[in-house]
Amino acid sequence: MYRTHYCGRLTEEDENQEVQLAGWINTRRDHGKIAFIDLRDISGIVQVVLVPQDLDEASNKLIAELRPEFVLSLKGIVKKRSAKQINPNILSGKIEILAKSFEILNKSKTPPFEIDQEENNVNEELRLKYRYLDLRKERMKNNILLRYRIIKFVRDFFHEKGFIEIETPNLAKGTPEGAREFLVPSRLHPGKFYVLPQSPQQFKQLLMVGGFDRYFQIARCFRDEDQRGDRQPEFTQLDLEMSFVEREDVISIIEESLINLIKAVAPEKKIQQIPFPRISYAEAMEKYKTDRPDMREDKNDPNLLALAWVVDFPFFEKTDPAMNAGQGNGWTFTHNPFSAAKPEHKEWLLNKEKIGEILTTQYDIVLNGFEIGGGSIRNHEPLALQRVFEIMGLELDEIKNKFGHMLEAFEYGAPPHGGIAWGLDRIVAILANEPNIREVIAFPKTGDARDPMMDSPSDVSPKQLKEVHIKLSDDLEIEESPKSKKVFDPIEGNFSKEE
Ligand code: ASP
Repeated sequence: MYRTHYCGRLTEEDENQEVQLAGWINTRRDHGKIAFIDLRDISGIVQVVLVPQDLDEASNKLIAELRPEFVLSLKGIVKKRSAKQINPNILSGKIEILAKSFEILNKSKTPPFEIDQEENNVNEELRLKYRYLDLRKERMKNNILLRYRIIKFVRDFFHEKGFIEIETPNLAKGTPEGAREFLVPSRLHPGKFYVLPQSPQQFKQLLMVGGFDRYFQIARCFRDEDQRGDRQPEFTQLDLEMSFVEREDVISIIEESLINLIKAVAPEKKIQQIPFPRISYAEAMEKYKTDRPDMREDKNDPNLLALAWVVDFPFFEKTDPAMNAGQGNGWTFTHNPFSAAKPEHKEWLLNKEKIGEILTTQYDIVLNGFEIGGGSIRNHEPLALQRVFEIMGLELDEIKNKFGHMLEAFEYGAPPHGGIAWGLDRIVAILANEPNIREVIAFPKTGDARDPMMDSPSDVSPKQLKEVHIKLSDDLEIEESPKSKKVFDPIEGNFSKEE
């Protein structure tokens, strides 16, 4: 081991102890022959004093070399600082380490931006290209730690409530959630494709048929959308589903989890109203002109959280005829085709009448003007689900081809069920007071869906394309990035020059 203690956790109680620390040089200041170093690790910072006569000979020779971001292991004694040197802003602010020896574990080039300062003007491209350095910053570290605490809380809470965490496939078949899908070509089945899931929707419902009556998952979801706002092509949901429940059951467990989550991870925040108010879609549109109203009474209070449920959405809406020429019946679902109609409108759905008036059991949860989640009670009877697809104008063949597995599964005793998914990234961002979800994802993509650090998406070799039976169209204009001349061949395990 390179260390016995964490830098940021040392306090006066450790006075006169000999400790071994390991971390990065945050800053270096020189006062004549004495050098001061702030040493940083995941726990925080501690001040180290390098006094030549207290250091061993080997270390003395190295002092001049030390620069920010060098990696050190050092031994020293914990000493109290004099009163006027106390730094009240950090836990270790009353002590410092008088170093006896140190070793340089690794050197560092000068970073492309300052690590120890929160400059907001660093270009995002640069931050993402050197994300591993960006992650060393205090603010990013705190965001990622908050994200971890939220995920841990969620796991503990739902385990406690009897939910089982189950993974569902990422190589899947399309599921209609209203976005374009990412395709993955199959090598073994020429001309066929997997689809990356927009959500685990179908699998979680099939788990209900499989008898796992309380499921959850911290699920990665993929949507190939044009980048609007701060959307990410892959993002994380807390996805859950329950059997033998009604709308009130789902709403009540979600309220309980969110209230307790906020109390546990962000106690400085206050929830405006408990139980969360409910507003119908019609009322939201009339009063706020949006179905994700920001209901905060004081929009300047950074700690105020206005959580609310939006309910009673129309099940179907008219499709844009220009987009839908010659296709369908002119109706599409507003949220989720698997949702059930409200019980009082079920007959209308089965008879395919008053289509525009059918309301769904869908419930969305909004927080300060963001939609942070949504779900519904599902159609567990095959006929009702089939009617949804018929209303959307799908022919029987198409319904069978796309959703036959769901209809068939529901013929084997599907229990009544319902669920919800939260956008985890958004919740973390709001609790971290970050305007953008990229700030709470360790390795996000840029606004136009690139990863400047790994340089993805990137070219692949003609051999790889051939293996998955893909030929790029001749008129494709490929912009060559400097890196794209050499491509990594995962089969050969090396970089090869593209012919
Ligand atoms: N699958 C839905 C979504 O991703 C959530 C749900 O209905 O449970 O928005």
